[in-house]
Amino acid sequence: MKQNKAYLTIKKTTPKKRDAQKRITDFNPTYYIFNKDEAQNQSLRCLKCPVDVLKGMTSEFSFCRTGCPLENKIPLWIEQVKNGNIKEAFKYSNETSPFPEILGMVCPQDVLCQGACTITQTETGSVTIGAIEVYLNEQAFKMGLIPDYGQKIEKTTKKVAIIGSGPAGMSCATFLLRAGIGVDMFEKSDRPGGLLTYGIPNFKIQKDVILRRFNWMQEAGLNLHLNTDISNSKQIKNMLDNYDAIFVALGAPKSKNANLKNEDAHGVYHVMDILKHAQKRVFQDFYEAILEDKNIVVIGGGDSAMDAVRTSVRMNAKSVRCVYRRDEHSMPGSRKEVINAKEEGVIFEFNTAPKEVIVNEKYNVKGLICQKTELVEVKGQKRKKLNVIQDSDFVLECDIIILALGFDNFIFPWYDTAEINTGKWGEIIVDENKRTSNRRIFAGGDSVRGADLAVTAAADGRKAAYTIISDLTQ
Ligand SMILES: Cc1cc2nc3c(=O)[nH]c(=O)nc-3n(C[C@H](O)[C@H](O)[C@H](O)COP(=O)(O)OP(=O)(O)OC[C@H]3O[C@@H](n4cnc5c(N)ncnc54)[C@H](O)[C@@H]3O)c2cc1C
Repeated sequence: MKQNKAYLTIKKTTPKKRDAQKRITDFNPTYYIFNKDEAQNQSLRCLKCPVDVLKGMTSEFSFCRTGCPLENKIPLWIEQVKNGNIKEAFKYSNETSPFPEILGMVCPQDVLCQGACTITQTETGSVTIGAIEVYLNEQAFKMGLIPDYGQKIEKTTKKVAIIGSGPAGMSCATFLLRAGIGVDMFEKSDRPGGLLTYGIPNFKIQKDVILRRFNWMQEAGLNLHLNTDISNSKQIKNMLDNYDAIFVALGAPKSKNANLKNEDAHGVYHVMDILKHAQKRVFQDFYEAILEDKNIVVIGGGDSAMDAVRTSVRMNAKSVRCVYRRDEHSMPGSRKEVINAKEEGVIFEFNTAPKEVIVNEKYNVKGLICQKTELVEVKGQKRKKLNVIQDSDFVLECDIIILALGFDNFIFPWYDTAEINTGKWGEIIVDENKRTSNRRIFAGGDSVRGADLAVTAAADGRKAAYTIISDLTQ
């Protein structure tokens, strides 16, 4: 067989970025979408590795598909993009993924499909899978193609209730609709999409891209009930009486605290309050500009911290600093987001731990006392130990402190009525088919895994849908 060596001669390219000084003036996307030539050219680099290799199969090689939580058949649609056959590429791309154009934008591909791409280890780098995925789907939509939501199949009499409209709920609804099963989705917020809508900022994923999927699902029969908080046992009892199954996809909504002195002062916010507030302003729901002209300190080093600093810059903050207790190399989030934040003028205080919030007589934030830290090797341990350096206190003057330290699960009181078991972190316990301790209730996404990723939530939603379909069609 002739081996494809195009990856050696065609340079890996990634989507172009808007100039940093321009992009901080609005919440529009940071990256441009590939054009046809770029997408076709990059597709030529694919080696067409076999798609029948699945996660869990032992192999000395890794393939894009084994790195993808949805096990997408990536080489099949890349081949069609290469041939200019967008219709076929769209079919393959949407067959296993419930919203590929969204995941192409938000997935950390460098640690998933692209991290597992066969040519990642070569000097030339991986195929730019995510960017090709976004291109082909957007191109298909321009051509008038619509995703499959069971529009053409006969509807069954079966009905499923989905609680939560984030990626887990969206994905479950997609595959149930495709099987002709009726779906009622209950969402406490005023807009659907979960953290895709109110967490991840518009400059990473545009909200009309999310709402477009909901419009198609509603046209195909999804009953979406917004502003509907499922909070008590009576609601759950009604659901168990009126639906064949329930899928619980509530996310992990509890922000972690830093446990600092004066942490409840005016001007200390949890990251989600700031991100939701900012997104509501982008939607023009007219909220006051709380960050404008303020000195901001964001505590944390993950992706939500990067979203907070980059949002603060766009909200016309006077200065934006990120305080992270380890070094730059240890940051848990995506490297590309740190680079974007630096380009946009964010100042990083690495090896710095917060100690105490300084307040004025009105209990407003005036500053943050910090301490310097160092990382030391410990014999037999991979992760270095963090030491606080004695007498290294210093003050960062600021008006606003944003805590971006991760999220925990919340145990809803109705879990007992529903006979759903939870683990020690408050996560819902499910089996490999996403079934809870109640046979008719399923769960997935962050409410099961703790704070994780959109793509793992999507994989859970699909798995739960397949189990429900199998239960209801026997
Ligand atoms: C700031 C931030 C940035 C992120 N960036 C990325 C990224 O770039 N890439 C990535 O892959 N992942 C990212 N993530 C993680 C990703 O967004 C989540 O893992 C994913 O959204 C989880 O999906 P989910 O459906 O389980 O929950 P969620 O998206 O949290 O959705 C849960 C939904 O349930 C609703 N709900 C909750 N309680 C009730 C109730 N009682 N009644 C009715 N509805 C209810 C909520 O309003 C929400 O809409 C980010 C997360 C955050 C916080």
